[in-house]
Amino acid sequence: MPTRVFRSSAYLSVNQAIETMCAQAQCHLATEKVIGTAALGRILAEDITAPFSLPPYDNAAVDGYGVRSGDPAESPRRVVCRAAAGAVADCSLGHGEAVRLFTGTPLPHGVDAVVMQEECQTEGDWVIIPSGVTRGDNCRIAGEDVRRGHKVLTAGTRLRPQDLGLTAALGLRSIPVRVAMRVALFSTGDELREPGVSLPTGCIYDANRYIISGCLISLGCHVTNMGILPDKETAVTAALQEAALSHDLLVTSGGVSVGEEDHVRAAVTAIGALHIWRVKIKPGKPIAIGSVANVPFLGLPGNPVAAMVAFLILCRPLVLTLAGRSFLPPALYPIQASFGLTRSPGRREFLRVRLEDGRATLCPMQGAAALSSLSHADGFADLGETVERVQPDDLIRFLPLTDLLW
Ligand code: AMP
Ligand code: MG
Repeated sequence: MPTRVFRSSAYLSVNQAIETMCAQAQCHLATEKVIGTAALGRILAEDITAPFSLPPYDNAAVDGYGVRSGDPAESPRRVVCRAAAGAVADCSLGHGEAVRLFTGTPLPHGVDAVVMQEECQTEGDWVIIPSGVTRGDNCRIAGEDVRRGHKVLTAGTRLRPQDLGLTAALGLRSIPVRVAMRVALFSTGDELREPGVSLPTGCIYDANRYIISGCLISLGCHVTNMGILPDKETAVTAALQEAALSHDLLVTSGGVSVGEEDHVRAAVTAIGALHIWRVKIKPGKPIAIGSVANVPFLGLPGNPVAAMVAFLILCRPLVLTLAGRSFLPPALYPIQASFGLTRSPGRREFLRVRLEDGRATLCPMQGAAALSSLSHADGFADLGETVERVQPDDLIRFLPLTDLLW
């Protein structure tokens, strides 16, 4: 692979950066079949079409009496048969007759409405049906939910509990899903220590590996914890080359700015390709994208808040695309701000906010290194590039963290 560093001269908007990143990305992961709840959270590898309709047959939506809607109301009808769920009423309904049915029972021939038992009066084998019964009342018609042969789930969907229910209802036992993407995750920096060891002056504990690992796991990736790399180009080079042999994605944090101790840049440049991107985002800079031995590489910023924002906002779409999942921009919810601020326009800003009384309240510490703001926050207030001020009660765009961690 030739040695290249790309430095985009123009600043990219957040959306341009996402589009550019995803444009070339493709999922190369294999497909496997999994059974039942093992498919939860996995990414569907093929479209699913319904082998039969749902419901498969016309059936009762309530416990009650099946009738002909055209029969005169309020005159007694003879109950000619009875069928509980799982059974079939062995009768054909004549005029002036009723059939005792329960929720889910197939509708016998002749029944075109079901009346709730609470609305009926019974005496022995007779039932009095109130007036106002209309054809189709409390009937579930075959195929009204899902039609045989129609697509019910699209390849690239991450399977949720209700999707497992749908495939089960269609009798599908083994589900084709993508194998989990293998991600090698490194932190870089001589100042970093693993929690649990003593902390010399001048050092800090590694927070980013826990944040980014948690984000990747939440997205369904299989993460290999590769530990802390020193600020030494040869060490970074060797570790990335080794990891590229057995992973689908390489992720680091720190070491990608312009300081002379930022060796990740130099290392990736020496063994692969690196694009340092200037993105109009705050926090979230600097961000480096590239590849080592044809394995995609993501270099996140060192500051923890910047690393998490860069990952969730800029890199998540790429990670999803590589994992075989369709990416839809997350929903932005209009919400009232409880705070006011003025700012220099130019960058899209993701402020950490908390929901209080239905309004967005600013978390106290907004610096790119202030970890407490992330734990305090329910999500981001997403301020557009051109926004110069926010006043209390203004409607702002809210992006819940939970929507990004799935
Ligand atoms: P760098 O981009 O390597 O210069 O890092 C920028 C800032 O982020 C420095 O203050 C680093 O100490 C800090 N930092 C880098 N990596 C981590 C990490 N894994 N956990 C916590 N802080 C970090
Ligand atoms: Mg560093």
